[in-house]
Amino acid sequence: MQRFAMFQSSVALAVLALCGAEAVAAPNISRLTPPSNPALATANTLARFLPGQRFDLQATVQPDAGATITQVVFAVDGNTVATLNNDGTGTSQYASNTSLVKTGLVSGLASNTVVASSRAYANSAPGVHTLTVTATDSNGLTTTRQGSFEVVGITANSGRPAKNIIIMLGDGMGASHRTAARIMAKGYAQGVAQGRLAMDTFPYTGLVMTASLNSIVTDSAPGMSNYVNGNKAQNNQEGVFPDDTTDAFDNPRIEYLSEYLHRLKGTSLGIVTTADVFDATPAANAVHTSARGNGTGIVDQYLDDRNLTGLKVLMGGGRKWFLPNASNKTSPQPINGSQRRTSNDYVLPTDLQVGWGAAAGALDNGRDLIADFQSAGFTYAPDKTSLLSAGTPDLLLGLFSYSNMNVAFDKINGRRGASTIVNDYGFPDQPMLDEMTQKALDVLNKNNSNGFVLMVEGASIDKQAHLMDTDRWVLETIEFDRAVQKAKEFAQANPDTIVIVTADHECSGAAIIGASMVTDAALRAKAATSADMRDNVVGTYDSAKFPAYSIAADGYPTTTDVNYKMLIGYGANADRYEAWISNPKPTQDSQQPFVGAAPLNAYPANPNVRNSSNGYLVTGQVPGDQAAHTATDVPLSAFGRGASLFTGVFDNTDVFFKLGQIAIGGAR
Ligand SMILES: [Zn+2]
Repeated sequence: MQRFAMFQSSVALAVLALCGAEAVAAPNISRLTPPSNPALATANTLARFLPGQRFDLQATVQPDAGATITQVVFAVDGNTVATLNNDGTGTSQYASNTSLVKTGLVSGLASNTVVASSRAYANSAPGVHTLTVTATDSNGLTTTRQGSFEVVGITANSGRPAKNIIIMLGDGMGASHRTAARIMAKGYAQGVAQGRLAMDTFPYTGLVMTASLNSIVTDSAPGMSNYVNGNKAQNNQEGVFPDDTTDAFDNPRIEYLSEYLHRLKGTSLGIVTTADVFDATPAANAVHTSARGNGTGIVDQYLDDRNLTGLKVLMGGGRKWFLPNASNKTSPQPINGSQRRTSNDYVLPTDLQVGWGAAAGALDNGRDLIADFQSAGFTYAPDKTSLLSAGTPDLLLGLFSYSNMNVAFDKINGRRGASTIVNDYGFPDQPMLDEMTQKALDVLNKNNSNGFVLMVEGASIDKQAHLMDTDRWVLETIEFDRAVQKAKEFAQANPDTIVIVTADHECSGAAIIGASMVTDAALRAKAATSADMRDNVVGTYDSAKFPAYSIAADGYPTTTDVNYKMLIGYGANADRYEAWISNPKPTQDSQQPFVGAAPLNAYPANPNVRNSSNGYLVTGQVPGDQAAHTATDVPLSAFGRGASLFTGVFDNTDVFFKLGQIAIGGAR
């Protein structure tokens, strides 16, 4: 039990002891939200907010055996914020934006435990504030627990505010991923890069610490969420603090940058990704849940709470969550590709609806969400052709595949007529990320009086790094950088814009170990017998020289299988067979609804069977069949209004406060 100020009314205890009653304990406040650092008096305050930024207060109170909780009082700086009485009659004796929840709690808690919430609290006074919760039980015993949070002030008139914020998120993109993309796309000679990636040209660079609330190694949910609400989330959770209920959509919320600026300035929101739009990074800009996998509820919240976020543009994959699924089952897989289910949908509790002005939600597996978006005024683009011919609508929804979009390697080879992978997936006409980014900027900048927040994700840098499919994640990084170029050009034309390029975490411990010492033909000959694939192939130090790739008119390497190609090792690798040659087919993606059927079921199942006939086994350091994320700091590059704030080493949560300062107080 943490060293928090816990005060108990000893008088009642003494009285009970006197009358020989069995010793009873005061209530135990086992969780206080926002979380505080145990070393309250000395350590930095953990929870931080911008002035007026909304967040939920919550406490889990466990009574002693046989007792019940009769009252919970939240106070800030000694001033009561909410009083929740519970005389056991079940009638709510508290404001409608508060609640005392007794059912649907996680296991392991004392009986009659309550979770008390006060929703959408906000404080505008900069400085550290004391949060106290006092709980009283049916024995008349009370416990008070103390925590703290900080309101980070904004320095007004510090220069022109940024009207537009563009966050370019290369998922899993560490320094190695950037360097590898530069080597392939720009080339080196005599030790000098013969060109710069767009992200290399940004004038300010910093290093970001990426840990989540519960680990040095984060996943993408907190990896993004921390950037855009200033607080640490737990792995797998986005826009919320952890709690003790089983419901994945009732967790204590933290207002996102998109919601905060929309409420203050009427800012609009754009979300663009090459992943399934239910995925963590896109969702962690607009959706609040403790289960990043709950796709049906996640995509419903995009539309149902657009009045909170100002959502105008949503593009990526993930059509499977938008199509009605009358059967509410996914086995057998509905032929329309739907994976909507009530089991990962939600209905919000009243206090959340009232406190946040959030939509109730519904368990609606049969919902036609595309039709609902269109009824709400969104223009719908199912493929590249319709996207590019859509003009500049006011609102835009683009869904270009059932789940994650195909990667650049396969989209470009499809366009070149060199492969039919995209046809196998059923989506031959998918846009590239730079095309999606340009369209999103056009739509968001139309009638753009109040500014916008745009998040663009290069998602499969991470997904292909997990699969240790080198050629595919390098091309993902090149595709992502072409989208960065679009954002840079926009900011050059619209100077009241800040663009940051960063990652949520590093993925796979990728390292540029050197280059092949043999020609492509020789490599293929070796692969045919999978003999001698390392010692006489892997050139390190001098033997690496300068791998040279030719770039086609479409901006991508003519081939990645050049003679003396660049070679990558993985510090967080799982078992794999390495053949160094590009994989003709991508590895199966379990998110695809039809992955279990032909033709996709003939694709390599995972890295430890892929290339087993023509590669050599590289034993993994991590369990499982995919490389893991690492805790390594990631680079952040900044361009535009206030970019100079992004230098040095800082925490991912600090980015939120820098953006808040730039958007409201201004910056040079
Ligand atoms: Zn990942």
